Amino acid sequence: MTLLDGKQTAESIKEEIRQELDIITQKGYRKPHLVAILVGNDGASRTYVDSKERNSIALGFNSTVLRLAEETTQDELITIVNNYNNNNDIDGIIVQSPLPKHIDEKLITQTIDPNKDVDGFHDINMGKLAKGDEGFVSATPLGIMMMLKAYNIQTTGKHCVVVGRSNIVGRPMSLLMSSNTEFGNATVTLCHSRTINISDYTKQADILIVALGKPGFITSDMVKPGAVVIDVGITRIDDASRKSGFYLKGDVDFESVKEVASYLTPVPGGVGLMTIAALLSNTFKAYKLHLGL
Ligand code: NAP
Repeated sequence: MTLLDGKQTAESIKEEIRQELDIITQKGYRKPHLVAILVGNDGASRTYVDSKERNSIALGFNSTVLRLAEETTQDELITIVNNYNNNNDIDGIIVQSPLPKHIDEKLITQTIDPNKDVDGFHDINMGKLAKGDEGFVSATPLGIMMMLKAYNIQTTGKHCVVVGRSNIVGRPMSLLMSSNTEFGNATVTLCHSRTINISDYTKQADILIVALGKPGFITSDMVKPGAVVIDVGITRIDDASRKSGFYLKGDVDFESVKEVASYLTPVPGGVGLMTIAALLSNTFKAYKLHLGL
């Protein structure tokens, strides 16, 4: 089994961006600028936003993180997003989910300028993805495509089974894998919580992509020998023996599945790091579009 190393792959993608950015800034252009907005105090969200900020700065991007109180109103948030939409020095805007219950997340997603929607959640970008047009693709599925490309994993004509149909992972993933592109062109089955006898499908997968949020759900008996297995799941499991008080577990039972899979992503160290690399890549793409480069 070959481990699909998210750390190494993400680093090489970031290095490519760094080198291209150096050439652009040497010509006197400004740096890319990513804005992340966090509302409230959700622990996991804080960790994600901190990591996006750290990675943006390390790459030479400008990064603004707006940490807003839980009580921020929907109208206040819309005004803030619109101000960033109208600011020519801002390339990418992300609003970290989940938002507090009094804020309509769908409305906020639609408020972001589609050309600054580096999360790829706006209806226009989702629509472009569905039609095979160029736009911004959700970072996690995009990061997985980058991983498949980096390892030159052939997908054409293969059977890809995606477990989970969320708008941010499973559904865009199924669209990308079925798209008429070099690392698409797979025949795709999309499974979800109403799928009956799910292992009948997972066992047929040449490429199995799992994003449901149920730690250890996929066991070796559900995997075809030699399959490529991509584990998107990240669940915090309480563990008082650790300084952090938790550890991260994927949706795939790593220990058993590593015995049957040909390629497998670890958790942590797999898809999560690719998600960040893809977000930075989207921000860089938005930056070049805004500057007309
Ligand atoms: P989500 O919005 O909760 O969606 C979960 C999907 O899994 C739903 O489509 C659901 O089906 C399906 N599902 C739930 N139980 C199932 C079962 N027993 N059998 C088959 N399908 C089932 O979750 P998400 O946002 O896609 O995230 C999924 C996991 O990926 C989470 O652990 C999350 O933390 C992780 N994640 C990781 C990254 C990363 O960067 N690595 C990024 C995003 C998410 P229904 O539609 O029928 O309810």
